[in-house]
Amino acid sequence: MKQFLFYVCMFCFSLQVSAQKACPYFSQMEINHIRVATPGLFEHNNKLLLYLDSIPKQAFAFPLPGAKVISAYGSRRGHSGVDIKTCAKDTIYCAFDGVVRMAKPYSAYGNVIVVRHSGGLETIYSHNSKNFVKSGDMVKAGEPIALTGRTGRATTEHLHFETRFNGQHFNPNLIFNFQEGTLRQGCVQCLKKGSRILVKAL
Ligand SMILES: [Zn+2]
Repeated sequence: MKQFLFYVCMFCFSLQVSAQKACPYFSQMEINHIRVATPGLFEHNNKLLLYLDSIPKQAFAFPLPGAKVISAYGSRRGHSGVDIKTCAKDTIYCAFDGVVRMAKPYSAYGNVIVVRHSGGLETIYSHNSKNFVKSGDMVKAGEPIALTGRTGRATTEHLHFETRFNGQHFNPNLIFNFQEGTLRQGCVQCLKKGSRILVKAL
């Protein structure tokens, strides 16, 4: 009996170790939920600056080339992203280098991917018919990460795309020109005021 318990303990321990190895970056909250504060993001300063000019060309990719906007940010009550569309099962590309924080089905989002980039910016890709990546994966700008779909609450195949700081969404138009499929120039400031995040272009 003692020996049996020993093997059970060893088995559980090895499971725990392999789970930690599979995802060394994130807590269970970060792996399982979209709106999660980023640990240590405002530890030294309540202001973050994202210099779009300093991002090299090869470090950016438009997530869905050739897409048109079918629903803007804030266009309807609580619309937390921009809806862009090409066709069903089209390839979705990661916008910047980063680490996949979350990749799973998540209620109205359907199959969703959250990627955390350096500087604390997060990009979200939702309603996917298929996710190619998992939590903990390192991804590069322009890497295929999913296929477009209509999983979750969606009436047509499209990509619901979000940008977030500290778990809170803000207008992706501050960073992307969705008409031209390009990155904007200049600098974006993210200010933490109490529990709120205020994001604006400088
Ligand atoms: Zn949407």
